Amino acid sequence: MNRELLRQVLSYYQDLGIQTLYRRTAPEPVERAVMRATPAVLPAATVGETADSLALIREDIGDCTRCRLHERRSKIVFGSGNQQAKLVFVGEGPGADEDAQGLPFVGRAGQLLTQMIEGTAQKEGIPIKREDVYICNVVKCRPPENRTPLPDEMEICGQFLTRQLLAIGPKAICVLGATAAKALLDKKEGVTKMRGNWYRWHDIPVMVSYHPSYLLRAYNQSAKREAWEDLKKVLHYVYD
Ligand code: URA
Repeated sequence: MNRELLRQVLSYYQDLGIQTLYRRTAPEPVERAVMRATPAVLPAATVGETADSLALIREDIGDCTRCRLHERRSKIVFGSGNQQAKLVFVGEGPGADEDAQGLPFVGRAGQLLTQMIEGTAQKEGIPIKREDVYICNVVKCRPPENRTPLPDEMEICGQFLTRQLLAIGPKAICVLGATAAKALLDKKEGVTKMRGNWYRWHDIPVMVSYHPSYLLRAYNQSAKREAWEDLKKVLHYVYD
């Protein structure tokens, strides 16, 4: 049985409340970890079956003035990459470089993210580049002075992130940092505790890892090592 089919079967039995079957038969640690995680909010069939296309979602955002973040933005940063990506990375919100270019993760943190994706993939023999994944943020406009987005901003913009993720229907999502983890998973634990573990969002496995900006700080050597481990885990799960 291939992995995707296995995942769907296990998910089906879990939805029926049959716990022991998948425990006895699941040979794959990732599936088991995902099964133990948060129950799905929507059935798997919903993912990827919405009528939305990314183009339509972008059109709906328009020249958005739904929250205060529009006041000081230069460009809306919708997202970039493969629209049918098997893996989506979700960050917090655009910084100065992203705001100027209208593209996510193009500044220093973005360069590190690119290096991490491509470097880890190459080392692990997985033939992907940055353009093969999809990258977006919780909020699409730059918060002033790069402050953390406020709850109402995350909620207003979050509807578009939800639609983006459902339209793409990736095999896994990797959330980068506390804001993205909060937006998708709404757990009490911090990133240090959550990282490296699998959760679920609408039946899609979600890996939590550190935000690349955090990794850029000089004292974060061990966090860097852990982030590479997280990435290795997610890349093998998605592309093996
Ligand atoms: N930090 C983010 O969270 N997103 C970006 O796009 C850039 C920096």
